[in-house]
Amino acid sequence: MRPMRKERFDIAVVGGGSAGVAAAVAAARLGAKVALIERYGFLGGAATHSFVMTYDGFLYRGDRPQWAVGGIGRELLGELDRFASKVEPVLSPNKNWVLPFNPESAKAALDSLVIRSAVSTRLHATVVEASVSGDRIVSLVAADHAGRFTIAADAFIDASGEGNLSALAGVPMAFAEEPRYAASLCVRIAGVPQDIAVDRAFLARICSAVPADETPAILRADGGFVLRLPENGDLWWMGVDILTDGVSSASLSEAEQKCRATAWAFVRQLRRVAGCERATLAGSGPQLGIRETRHPQARYMISDADALAGRRVDTPVARAVWPVERHDTPGKPTMVPIGGDGFFDIPAGSIRATRIDNLWLAGRTVGAERGAFSSLRVMGTGFATGQAAGTAAALALQGRPEYPALRATLLDQGAIL
Ligand SMILES: Cc1cc2nc3c(=O)[nH]c(=O)nc-3n(C[C@H](O)[C@H](O)[C@H](O)COP(=O)(O)OP(=O)(O)OC[C@H]3O[C@@H](n4cnc5c(N)ncnc54)[C@H](O)[C@@H]3O)c2cc1C
Repeated sequence: MRPMRKERFDIAVVGGGSAGVAAAVAAARLGAKVALIERYGFLGGAATHSFVMTYDGFLYRGDRPQWAVGGIGRELLGELDRFASKVEPVLSPNKNWVLPFNPESAKAALDSLVIRSAVSTRLHATVVEASVSGDRIVSLVAADHAGRFTIAADAFIDASGEGNLSALAGVPMAFAEEPRYAASLCVRIAGVPQDIAVDRAFLARICSAVPADETPAILRADGGFVLRLPENGDLWWMGVDILTDGVSSASLSEAEQKCRATAWAFVRQLRRVAGCERATLAGSGPQLGIRETRHPQARYMISDADALAGRRVDTPVARAVWPVERHDTPGKPTMVPIGGDGFFDIPAGSIRATRIDNLWLAGRTVGAERGAFSSLRVMGTGFATGQAAGTAAALALQGRPEYPALRATLLDQGAIL
């Protein structure tokens, strides 16, 4: 048997979504030798693998755009402008600011960000094991087409969305018995002429006309969320929901197949509208959009009441502005805006896992009750919590684990606290 390949880093980040990229870049810029491990062949997470084409959570709710996230997330937006048309804030029908972008630009922009920051990226590598000694992770095992290899590091960041690293390391999971939020298929639809006004009412009429026996998943009765893409006039549409555990191959396979069949049934109905005869499903991501799976137990779990009241804390590392957007019932999302000054603080304790001392949490894995989670999971906030986790881990390795050092460093990097 060939010996296993071995690599050694200061910090290993699992997951190359918004949070993982920001974590890796932040840590590398503080001098750490960083590995960023991602199972797909590109970075971006849901932005690129699930066709989630608007960055939310960057701007406060309100009549004019005002930034709530700075630092690496904002830098990425600037980088995106180099590849496609400028990323501009758009006010959504429910009065939230969203930033539409082209996922292909996001792949390239994220590449250039990590390359410029000297992050060692390991694409096409899935982390499948964690070796734990006492209260520390010592190394990971990842698998690629060449086989398995180990990555040893002094600190680790779980930016896997699904809490995969935390689960492998034996971190307890919160809310494990509760049902998960619905997943959704996001698609690009081409061939709907620009002079046809496409809004929710238009889409709802089509959804209601689709024969029920052609929709094994759930078509949103309200028509779902739609946006004309600025670059080519195609529609970005999110109108097919389904329940899945989000982690097992059997459940995910069934969900993918049912959602695809339902999206095609919708397009067939759309083609019956005068002018839309050439409408077609022009694309979907490599995977279904998974909102919620595991919740690793953090040292501080942000409560739903904290989120709804817009609570401030003494140790903030980021701000969450997106409404509490629950998807308890497939096809029927609900949204409640954040109270107080329109944001809640994400405290330093919520980016630290329990039980494992050298594990930080970023993006969807940040410690929160499910309502608070439904706000902070958006990608703008994910960049901010990722930057905080990467910075905290790098400072800890430098022997500077105290909050004032983290705060000062984040502010220095342009974070908004
Ligand atoms: C249908 C849907 C619509 C949404 N709409 C919006 C929206 O419009 N705007 C918005 O801002 N947010 C939206 N969100 C939320 C947002 O997309 C996610 O919550 C966000 O992407 C989370 O970022 P993350 O970096 O924590 O995780 P992710 O983006 O999920 O990235 C995690 C990464 O980790 C990788 N990974 C996982 N396990 C492993 C492993 N074991 N080894 C290696 N790599 C691994 C994955 O491949 C993935 O790339 C939506 C989500 C869904 C599902």
